[in-house]
Amino acid sequence: MVNPKGPVVTRFAPSPNGQLHLGHAFSALCAHEFARAFGGQFHLRIEDIDGTRSRPEHIQAILADMQWLGLAHDGKVQFQSQHTARYVAARDRLVSAGFLYRCGCTRGDISEALKHKPVPHGPDGPHYPGTCRELPFAGDGPYSWRLDTKKAADLVGPLMWTDLAAGQQFADPMAFGDVVLWRKDAPASYHLAATVDDATDGITHVVRGKDLFAYTAIHRLLQNLLDLPEPVYWHHPLLLDSTDEKLAKSKSSPALSARRLAGESSAELMDNLRHRMLPLGISLSDA
Ligand code: GLU
Repeated sequence: MVNPKGPVVTRFAPSPNGQLHLGHAFSALCAHEFARAFGGQFHLRIEDIDGTRSRPEHIQAILADMQWLGLAHDGKVQFQSQHTARYVAARDRLVSAGFLYRCGCTRGDISEALKHKPVPHGPDGPHYPGTCRELPFAGDGPYSWRLDTKKAADLVGPLMWTDLAAGQQFADPMAFGDVVLWRKDAPASYHLAATVDDATDGITHVVRGKDLFAYTAIHRLLQNLLDLPEPVYWHHPLLLDSTDEKLAKSKSSPALSARRLAGESSAELMDNLRHRMLPLGISLSDA
């Protein structure tokens, strides 16, 4: 049974680089119901930090879909594209503390280096081979900022976090190697922007899909490096399609907007999703 001590604040944080599908509706519902069950707040954050992939028409569709689903959010909708200054401040702090280094490697440079250097493989594939960590980047071309994950993790020491479904977890940021925190072609990475925003927006419970479970290790590390509060997490199961495949925007799962624009009511769909929440072991009705 979940029994938070203080006020609860959750959020739904879609990236507007595609249409929302049923899996997003489920995620938004979980975050919404969790907040409502505890008399808390539910925020909507549009993760449009990546200007190369975000599309205004997707933002409009997300806002209309949320209304159609009947999932009202508290406060103003937050847009990451309007908060670059706070990500710059976090990046600069990490740079001054010596946790980030410049990386000028292209994808081609990295695959070439990987041919000659065995590296561990993590959830996102082979680790960055460390070229620009070992030999500081001195070129004048574009560069990204990478986290020296080992240096940071060694300094911070063992890290734990709590998942409401999976229990106490050890964070293993080393599983990802030196991740990019500031991209060449876009501002902050998802990891930096989401971690900073969750703290700024006072998110007490990060409710999101299990596909993001492993990333929490990086977020916990960043929270420590930046002196940010630690939220509780609930990584809910992903909805599967009829072939037991994860519903993803890249696949052909039906977009919510298509159903909305076809004049369908969302009532049945939401009832169905509420039923799917019941067996998850998060006993909201006990609150
Ligand atoms: N923007 C991310 C996505 O659409 C979700 C981020 C999060 O919930 O932490 O997958």
